[in-house]
Amino acid sequence: MKDSYYHKGLRKKLVATIRAKGIEEEKVLQAIESIPRHFFLDNAFAELAYEDRALPIGKGQTISQPYTVAFQTELLGIQKGDKVLEIGTGSGYQACVLAALGAKVYTVERQESLYLKTQRLLEKMDVPHIRMYLDDGHLGLTQKAPFDKILVTAAAEKMPETLKEQLTIGGVLVVPVGMDTQQMYRLVRLSESDFYAQVYGDFQFVRFERGVKREK
Ligand code: SAH
Repeated sequence: MKDSYYHKGLRKKLVATIRAKGIEEEKVLQAIESIPRHFFLDNAFAELAYEDRALPIGKGQTISQPYTVAFQTELLGIQKGDKVLEIGTGSGYQACVLAALGAKVYTVERQESLYLKTQRLLEKMDVPHIRMYLDDGHLGLTQKAPFDKILVTAAAEKMPETLKEQLTIGGVLVVPVGMDTQQMYRLVRLSESDFYAQVYGDFQFVRFERGVKREK
């Protein structure tokens, strides 16, 4: 794994692209600029790492488009020290963006092979403040709840109520909801029972599946 001036140059261009698409938060743009996205991809796709597009990461899953990563991160409004739950570890790229912003990241993946592969990568990269779990994200992460921020990186058919309950008061949940295309929901927990919602469209994520998928 090597990060060169060539890659850094490509990242600067990528940041200019997503800035032009409407991402304004400087901290988020800096995080995208600092993380070598090509580390999270197989060699076959490394050349495309700094295009603003989703790419395959195996097992029918994708690393989200950088614009989408930035958009979701911006909606979360990460503050240093926030306790953040990510559902859908995938390549680990989004988790690293959150960690770069100073979050304490708890991330859950349901596919064992992706979980193991990403665990090895994050160990090699020596990224601090990310804890990984192999589990069904529909359950949230009860043993570590509540969270200041919760992010779902797969398409939920309907609003995941269990995750809402694992937010602190004042906490924020960002989740794409819908079947073929998704609307991005940003929910703020105002009290035990009250939530304030904002909706943004349209996005396309892989499905938020049920259950853990272990290798045989
Ligand atoms: N955040 C990831 C995006 C990966 S795509 C990245 O930066 O690369 C979405 C991921 O969600 C996939 O890896 C998929 O296996 C996972 N996923 C889908 N349903 C899930 C569930 N119920 N619990 C945990 N992870 C899930």
